[in-house]
Amino acid sequence: MKRVGVLSLQGDFAAHGASLERAGAEPVFVRDAGQLAWVDGLIIPGGESTTMLKLLRFEGWLDKLAEFGRRKPIFGTCAGAILLASDVSNPPQESLGLMDLGVERNAYGRQVDSRVASLDPAPEFERRTAPGKLEAVFIRAPIIRRAASGVMVLARYAGDPVLVEQGRHLAATFHPELTGDRRVHQLFLEKL
Ligand code: GLN
Repeated sequence: MKRVGVLSLQGDFAAHGASLERAGAEPVFVRDAGQLAWVDGLIIPGGESTTMLKLLRFEGWLDKLAEFGRRKPIFGTCAGAILLASDVSNPPQESLGLMDLGVERNAYGRQVDSRVASLDPAPEFERRTAPGKLEAVFIRAPIIRRAASGVMVLARYAGDPVLVEQGRHLAATFHPELTGDRRVHQLFLEKL
């Protein structure tokens, strides 16, 4: 069984653990950078990217995560996607730069900051998983304003990319761990 780390410093790591189990993998709740040596891939969950960054700087994790990402797949959801990106705005902040994306934090505004949408995923997503609409839960989500030409868009919402893949990495601006649909986690497991 594949062992997948879930960065468990802050945010909704427990829900990712349950999703991984449903998708047939063994979650490892990573709280110590030494645990990275044990896992085939890593999920960086949603939460608050500024808070996560503080903890990551404090523990000297940033270099270790960047190094891990040069060898193994990482899947970032929401705050995790912000951490994977190369450019962050609103306001600018440090990130791992493992995916060539420009993201704007909290980009849907304060009035309607959370929503559930039913998306038509790209044919490529359905081909690699299973056909059907994708329910997407957005919570104070970022918008991907720029995706480099090497980035594959697997789903969009209102014209903007919300599920993207670049090489071994995957990022979603929504929360696939909050619905019963296992396809996004399955797609990540296929990459390990
Ligand atoms: N708004 C958060 C941030 O900027 C992300 C929200 C989330 O992960 N649900 O980090």
